Amino acid sequence: VRRLERFADVRRERRGTTALVPTMGFLHEGHLSLVEAAAAAADTVVVSLFVNPLQFDDPADLDRYPRDPERDAALAGDAGATILFSPPPDEVYPAPPAVRVIPGPPGDGMEGSRRPGHFAGVATVVAKLFAGLQPDRAHFGRKDAQQLVVVSRLAADLSFPVEVVGGPTVREQDGLALSSRNVFLPSADRTAALALSRGLMAAASAAEAGERSGAALEGLVAAEVAGGGILELEYAVLAGAADAARIARLDRPAFLAAAVRVGGLRLIDNVWLLPDGTADRGITLDRPSILYGGGP
Ligand code: AMP
Repeated sequence: VRRLERFADVRRERRGTTALVPTMGFLHEGHLSLVEAAAAAADTVVVSLFVNPLQFDDPADLDRYPRDPERDAALAGDAGATILFSPPPDEVYPAPPAVRVIPGPPGDGMEGSRRPGHFAGVATVVAKLFAGLQPDRAHFGRKDAQQLVVVSRLAADLSFPVEVVGGPTVREQDGLALSSRNVFLPSADRTAALALSRGLMAAASAAEAGERSGAALEGLVAAEVAGGGILELEYAVLAGAADAARIARLDRPAFLAAAVRVGGLRLIDNVWLLPDGTADRGITLDRPSILYGGGP
């Protein structure tokens, strides 16, 4: 994999069609599944590695965010990346940006209301990656459901000629959605945290069995999380896939998203649901994640 640090160098190195996979690094199988999908669809695959200060509402979270660019380069290359773009902060922000992208209503609820400024930070850096790297397509995980909606609307509403593509949530063997932050989860907290994915899976099964009430689906998640003892539920919301606005009934493509706090961490997860009751739970690993030492 070529390692480049300047937008202009990436533009010069691209051949054929280009797919972008934006990440904050410390890669795991969720990221790598996006890289593989990108490699199957484009000639040049750019994985970006940038811990974007603008999207962190909590400075402590930014400071402790795990980083290992050597490991990421090896993993990204093995999965089919041609370029690892790891810009220094001054390449992305030569000056603090006066002009920012504010995503509007899709970024207001759920994560947006708990993490002020978060989606403006995400939308601003994604707009800069789109403009600076000029990809034909960009791959994002459905794990971050509201983010996927915000980015899709960003591309459509600002006429970026980029096709935004969602990839399935990758889960650990016990059902916990993969996140780079899982490395910080003590085992007692982790056991409790499993109530989050259990609740979402119960709701997915209920949708498959015919449940269409938003309150009922949300309630299944809340009940399971309440049984998880030390977990604190921040929200469980059924939202439309087109605009991330809360809906009362499953009568259009949607996602059921939830956030919990456990110890000092926040975890988010979701399932995607269709009005016919089809549920997308993501995919589950059949071995321990590379997050826990099985690196390159
Ligand atoms: P991050 O490095 O956390 O900013 O994530 C980079 C990209 O990987 C985003 O598009 C995320 O939605 C995606 N991603 C993170 N975790 C997962 C997962 N468990 N499954 C699928 N995609 C994921």
